[in-house]
Order: sequence, then structure tokens, then C-alpha cells
Amino acid sequence: MFDKVLIANRGEIALRILRACREIGIKTVAVHSTADNDAMHVRLADEAVCIGPPAAKDSYLNQSAILTAATIAHADAIHPGYGFLSENADFAEMVEEHEFTFIGPSPDHIRLMGDKIAAKKAVMEAGIPVVPGSDGALKDAEEARAAAADIGFPVIIKASAGGGGRGMKIVHDDASVAESFDLARAESKAAFSSDEVYMEKFLEAPRHIEVQVLADHHGNIVHLGERDCSLQRRHQKLVEEAPSPALNQMERQSIGDRVVSAVKKLGYRSVGTVEFLYENGEFYFIEMNTRLQVEHPVTEMICGIDLVREMIRVASGAPLGFSQSDIKFSGHSIECRITAEHPETFAPSPGLVTDYHAPGGLGVRIDSGLYSGYTIPPHYDSMIGKLIVHGANRNECLMRLRRALSEYVIDGVDTVIPLHRRLLEEPNFINGDYDIHWLEKFVEGN
Ligand code: ADP
Repeated sequence: MFDKVLIANRGEIALRILRACREIGIKTVAVHSTADNDAMHVRLADEAVCIGPPAAKDSYLNQSAILTAATIAHADAIHPGYGFLSENADFAEMVEEHEFTFIGPSPDHIRLMGDKIAAKKAVMEAGIPVVPGSDGALKDAEEARAAAADIGFPVIIKASAGGGGRGMKIVHDDASVAESFDLARAESKAAFSSDEVYMEKFLEAPRHIEVQVLADHHGNIVHLGERDCSLQRRHQKLVEEAPSPALNQMERQSIGDRVVSAVKKLGYRSVGTVEFLYENGEFYFIEMNTRLQVEHPVTEMICGIDLVREMIRVASGAPLGFSQSDIKFSGHSIECRITAEHPETFAPSPGLVTDYHAPGGLGVRIDSGLYSGYTIPPHYDSMIGKLIVHGANRNECLMRLRRALSEYVIDGVDTVIPLHRRLLEEPNFINGDYDIHWLEKFVEGN
């Protein structure tokens, strides 16, 4: 097992990783920008190294500064968290070249899944159903028009290097294909330095359902059930739950088994998430995320397994301590992402948190580095924490969530807590009756 882990991230996920390390006796090194001198993960870590100025490109994305910090601190391994460098295959490679362990999958798997066209092809060959779409990348607008005619409108043009819901264009008719194609290419080029785009059938009322896997270096692999992340705004998740209210036991088992068999064929190791759109009883692969996800806690709550600890254990070479039949699902869990944004306009709201009181009690978990007197810096993602509840069933979960949200106080900045409270009054949400477009309509209608 590792003696010391460097956490190449910030915010709630840096804290989450730190907690997992501390529980199993691993020392931690926090790295941080000058904007995060007073961040909770910096305060709690055994050691902290300042790696640069506020801009992420000069600090949390500064690969050589992170490797230098790891060298100076004599860390054995680097955990990238999510976002930042977590899906950067070159960084993972460089970490290994410097003889640290990268706590995550192999650089080859990160590279494969980061190229969405190649990923789709690889999982299809491994037996996973995909969204019908173009045969690989689209060369020009003419090819895009032909592909759209073939697939049938509406279609969606997506960036092969895409992420975070960016670079996607929905197209409803032949007349708009060329313009959307050019726009998608330009956006992708600007955001991801690649103008490779492809096309898929645009599913009109699917749910987003994803399967969590965990694999060690010895060929052992399990799935930890699914999460339903259909409540999205601008293709970004806001609320996640496990299990999905839409699946029955047979569907759950069948998709879990299919994913395990495919991921095993690919020789994957570490945690990973296989994302699907689900419509009319069918699953369609959209992408695989080769990292820990924001929403991993809902899985932990229903499985009773510390995913971050397991991720660290398998990275150190330890075999999985359990098999599929040992995993027992219990109850229901829902996570609300708390962002510092206006609950209606979604304008970012960084600044001083003048008063902070987190909810507690049975079945309530807060993953956040917030405290009274903390100043949320304007330089990073607006997510400031996650409220996760667990209950014996979905109904108890909803009651608990309502209660927890009523206790939550974050003063001084705007947050989306009022939006979450309103969501809990909505019959569609209460009944689990929503698809990936529902939240957007709900938000716009208010
Ligand atoms: P990213 O990597 O940018 O998150 P994804 O491929 O995972 O991109 O898609 C993000 C979200 O975009 C999905 O959860 C879904 O809401 C929407 N989306 C993607 N592909 C389709 C599709 N073919 N039809 C309808 N919605 C889609």
C-alpha cells in the first residue's frame, strides 16, 4: 500500500480523497493555487504545496509543477480526482514515467475512451449497444447531410474529443445541417483543439443511466449497479440517484452483466463509468468515463463500499476484496449538486460565505469544503458541495432530502438550494417520471 498520496485537485473531491486516505493510514499532500490558500483540503492535508497562481492552467493543470511537488514531498502516487488532469492520458503517462503510481486506469484506456468515436467502436465490438449514428468522423457538410438522411431527423452532432456537455448541436432538418456542422466543428476546435465531429440519432425522451464498474489488476471486475442522472441542465447533471426509478431488477442485472463482460474484454482496470441513454426499454452507449465521477457517493450509499478507498487499493496492486455476489444493494440514495449560482439565472456567485450551517442527522451526508468565513474563488467550477441522502426506499429518501434542504444555510452567496427545494415539490420528480429534457423545461418555465 502507498505511504503518501498527492491529491492533484481541489474542492470537495480533494477532501473526499483525503478522507479515504486518512482512514487507511495514508499520508496526504495537497497541491493548491494561491487562490486556495485557505481551502479546507489544504488545511486538513498532512502537507501542502503551492503550485501556482489562480488560473487553472498555471496551477491545477500545471503538470510539471504537480510532478515537482510530488518529487519534493516524496509521494508514491497521484490521485487526479475528476476534471482537471483526470482524463489526460499524457499526464497519466508522465506520472508513471516519473515512477509515481497514477491512481486511475492505464493511459491507453484513458486515450481510447477520450476519443469518443474510437470508444464507441471499441465497446460495440465488445458487445455493448450504441446510439445509431455516423460511421465515424464526418469529413464535410455533404457527408453530414448524407449521414443525417440515413439516420433520420432529429440528429445530434457531437465532438469526438468532447466533454462537459460542450460542442453538441441538435439538428432538426436538412436545411440546418451544414450550419450546425460548421458551428460544432468550430466550438470543438476552440474547446478541445480538435475539430473532429460525428453524428448520432437525437433521442427525444431518454433517461441518462450509467453503470459503475471497478476492476483490479488481476482480472477481477464487478459492477456496482446503476445511477440515474437524467436531471440535467445544458447536458450537465444536477441531481443523481441510485438505483434508477426506471429499471426493473431484470434490466438492472442484464445491463450490469453486459457492461462487466465488455469492460473485462477491454482489459480495463480502476473505477470507470459506462454511460447510456435509455429509451423504450433499450440501452444505447454514449461514452465511458475513465475516472471517479462527481456522483459516485450515491453508489457508495446503496452498496456500503468506499469507492475511493477501493480505487486506491487496486491502484496499489491489491486484489479486489469481494466478488459480484458479495455486493448487496440496500435502499435508495439521491445527490443534489450545490453550486454557487443564482437559482433562476444561474449567474455564478463567488464570494464570502458569511454564515454556513450544514444539515445532519440519520442518512445525511455532506461532501463539501465550505465553512463560515470561506471565500469562494471566482476562478473555478461553481460546484461548492454535494448533499447526499440515503433512505430505506425512494420515498424515505425524498422525505429526508426535503428535511435536509430545509436545514441547509449558506449565506453571503447565491446557491441553487432554492431550486432543489422547488424540485422536491414537483410531481414528476416525486414520481421518478422524468427524462433528460425535463429539468431544462422545468427551469425555463419558472
Ligand atoms: P459529455 O462527454 O460532453 O458529457 P455525453 O456524450 O456524455 O457528452 O452526453 C452528455 C449529455 O448530452 C447526455 O447525458 C444527454 O443528455 C445528451 N446527449 C448526448 N447524446 C445524445 C443523443 N444521441 N440524444 C439525445 N441526447 C444526447
